[in-house]
Amino acid sequence: HLSAQPGEIRTTCAYCGVGCGVLAKPDGQGGLTVRGDPDHPANRGRLCSKGTALGETVGHEDRLLYPVIDGARADWDTALDQVADRFRETIAEHGPDSVAFYVSGQMTTEDYYVANKLMKGFFGSANIDTNSRLCMASTVAGHKRAFGTDTVPGTYEDLELADLVVLTGSNLAWCHPVLYQRIVAAKAARPEMRVVVIDPRRTATCDIADLHLAIAPGADVALFNALLSQIDRRGARDPRFARHLDGMEEALAAAHAEDVSRTGLSPAQIAAFCDMWIGTEKVVTVFSQGVNQSTSGTDKVNAILNCHLATGRIGRPGMGPFSVTGQPNAMGGREVGGLANTLACHLDIENAAHRDAVQTFWAAPAMPERPGLKAVDMFRAVEEGRIKALWIICTNPAVSMPEADRVRDAIAGCDFVVVSDITDRTDTARLAHMLLPAAGWGERDGSVTNSDRTISRQRAVLPPPGDARPDWAILAEVGRRMGWAKAFDWPDAAAVFREHAALSGVAGRFGGDFDISDHAALDAQGYAALAPFRWPTAGTRQGGRFFGDGRFFTPSGRGRMIPVSARALATETCEARPFRLNTGRIRDQWHTMTRTGRAARLNRHMGEPFVEIHPNDAARLGLAPAGLAELRGATGCAVLRVLVTDRVREGEVFAPIHWSGDTAPTGRVDALVAARTDPFSGQPESKAAAVSVAPY
Ligand code: SF4
Repeated sequence: HLSAQPGEIRTTCAYCGVGCGVLAKPDGQGGLTVRGDPDHPANRGRLCSKGTALGETVGHEDRLLYPVIDGARADWDTALDQVADRFRETIAEHGPDSVAFYVSGQMTTEDYYVANKLMKGFFGSANIDTNSRLCMASTVAGHKRAFGTDTVPGTYEDLELADLVVLTGSNLAWCHPVLYQRIVAAKAARPEMRVVVIDPRRTATCDIADLHLAIAPGADVALFNALLSQIDRRGARDPRFARHLDGMEEALAAAHAEDVSRTGLSPAQIAAFCDMWIGTEKVVTVFSQGVNQSTSGTDKVNAILNCHLATGRIGRPGMGPFSVTGQPNAMGGREVGGLANTLACHLDIENAAHRDAVQTFWAAPAMPERPGLKAVDMFRAVEEGRIKALWIICTNPAVSMPEADRVRDAIAGCDFVVVSDITDRTDTARLAHMLLPAAGWGERDGSVTNSDRTISRQRAVLPPPGDARPDWAILAEVGRRMGWAKAFDWPDAAAVFREHAALSGVAGRFGGDFDISDHAALDAQGYAALAPFRWPTAGTRQGGRFFGDGRFFTPSGRGRMIPVSARALATETCEARPFRLNTGRIRDQWHTMTRTGRAARLNRHMGEPFVEIHPNDAARLGLAPAGLAELRGATGCAVLRVLVTDRVREGEVFAPIHWSGDTAPTGRVDALVAARTDPFSGQPESKAAAVSVAPY
C-alpha cells in the first residue's frame, strides 16, 4: 500500500460505523477515484464493495440543486426566512415542544452539534431525535446502566487479539465488512482463534464460525443468562474485579432463574458455548442490530455486559463487550447529545448541574428539563398534530421507520415539513413543503466517530453542486435569522468543531468520559490536517481502553451488573400472521439506497427486494423460486421476489430494508414492522415482526 499520492485527499467513508479511511482524488470530470487509506487505523488500506464504489455515487443526476418551496424553485434567502419564521411562530403559538428535528447518523459531528444546540439550547425543547434510535439506542441505554456513561470499552485491535470472538446479532461479513476482514486475517494468522456466531439465520458471517448457534429470535438474554449462571457455578467469576462492581448477586439470581429453553438451543449447544466462553480468557463479544433492535434490546446489552463484568474480561487487550454501530457517525451523534434523551458530551439532560453548565457555555436562553420525544413517539406526535413543524435532515423515515406507511401519512399531514437532503427523489422528500439542498459526502467538511471511538475527518473533495450547502451552515443560518446571531456565528466547520471540543471540557469537569478539549484551540490548518485520533485523548487511558482499571462513571465509581430476565417478543405470531419476519441489510446497499443506488455495480449484487424463505415453507405455500410473494403485517404489506433457501428456518423469513417506492406494490419492508419499542431505549423491534406470506 502506498500512502497518499499527489492529488489524493484523505477522507472517511460515507457508510458504516467501521469508519474506513479513504483516499479520494478528483478525476477532473466531476467524479472521484477512491482507494483505501493505508494509514487509517480502522482499515489500513482495505475497503469493502460499498466503499470502493464511492466514486460512482457523486454524480449530479437526481441531485437537489436549489431550495424548493411548495414545488417551486426558490432562493436561499426566501427559504431560510420562511423556515425561521415558521419555527418562531409555531413555538410562540404552541410552545417549544410543538416543533421537532429528525436527524441522522450520516450527518457530521459538526452538523449534529449545531442541530442539537439550536433545538435544545435555543428552541428550548429536546425534540431532536435521530435515525440512530433505530440503530444503537439500546446500547446507549445498556452502557449507561452498567458504566454510568455511554462508553465503548474496547478497540478494534481487541477483535484481533482475542482468542474467541463471539458475534451476536451481527452479520459482520455484510454489514461491517472491513472489520470482518480483519477478523478473517487474524484467524488466518492464528488458526487457534475461534469464532462463534449467534444468529437465527445462517448468514455469510457463519463462513468463519467454529460454532453457529441458530438461536430463537429475541432470546439473547436467555442465552447470556445461561452463560452467567455457568460462570458462577463453575467458579469463573473474578473476585478481584468484583470489588469494583455493584449488583452481582441480583444479576446472578436472575441468571440462575432463567428459562434457558427459550433459546431454542439444545443443552449440548449451550454447554459447548459456555465451555468455549468460560475456558477462553481473551474473549470479545461483538453485538449489533440483532441485539439492539428489540423490545428487550437494553436488557440484551446488559446480559452481555454482565458476563464480561463478572469475569473482569473488560477493557483489557483482547477482552470486552463490543458494540459495532451501524452508521458512520452514530457515535459522533452520541457525543454531541443528538438523541432526545441525551444532552451534550455524554452529559445527562435530567441532571440540573449538567444542564446549567451547558446552558452557561452556550449562553442559551432556555433548556429543556426533560427528555424529548424518541423517534417512534415523535412521529406519533406528528400524526396527532402535536408536532406542527418538523425538520428532517439527511434521512428517509417514510421508508425506514417501523409502520412506515403510517409514518409517511403522518408526515404528509404535518403543518410544515422541511427536508434537507441531497436529492428530492426519496419518499420523504416528496412529502415536504420545503426542500433544502444539502452538500453530500465528498462535498462537505466535518468529522465522524467510528465504533472504536476514533474521530476522523470527512473532507470536501469536490465543490457542492448548484446551491447546495452543508447542513451545519443551513442550521446556523436559521439560528441567526431567529435572532441568535452570536451563538450561531461560525465561519467554517473547524470553528464548530472547536466549540464542540471546548464544551467537552465541561463534561470533563464533571468527571465524564468524553473530553477532547485539548482540541479546542485547533486552528483552521490544524483542523485541515487533523489525523484520526481515538478518545480519550489524555490521562492514563489515553487512546486506549476503559474499565479494565475498575474505574467507572457511576456516582459510586463502581460498575453495575443489572439483573435481567428474558421476555417474550412484543408481537405474537398467529393464525393470520404465522411467519416471523427478520429484517436487515445486504452487502452492497446502504439504508434506503439514496447513495448506493447510484452505483450500477452495487445494484448488480441483489437488484430487487426479496424475501428468504425455507424450501418446505415455499413448497407448502406454492411459492416458486424467483416468483413473487406478498407479505402482510398488521400495518402494511410488501411484494418481494422469492429466494428459497435453508439459510432461514421453517416459520421464519428474512427481508432486506433498502427498497422504497410510494405506489403499491412496493418492497417497503418497514411497513410490515410494528412500532413496539424497548422501554429503556425506545428502540423498535425491527427483527421480529409477524407476517403472512402468500403468492402474489
Ligand atoms: Fe465504508 Fe464500512 Fe465498507 Fe469501511 S466497511 S468501506 S466504512 S461501508
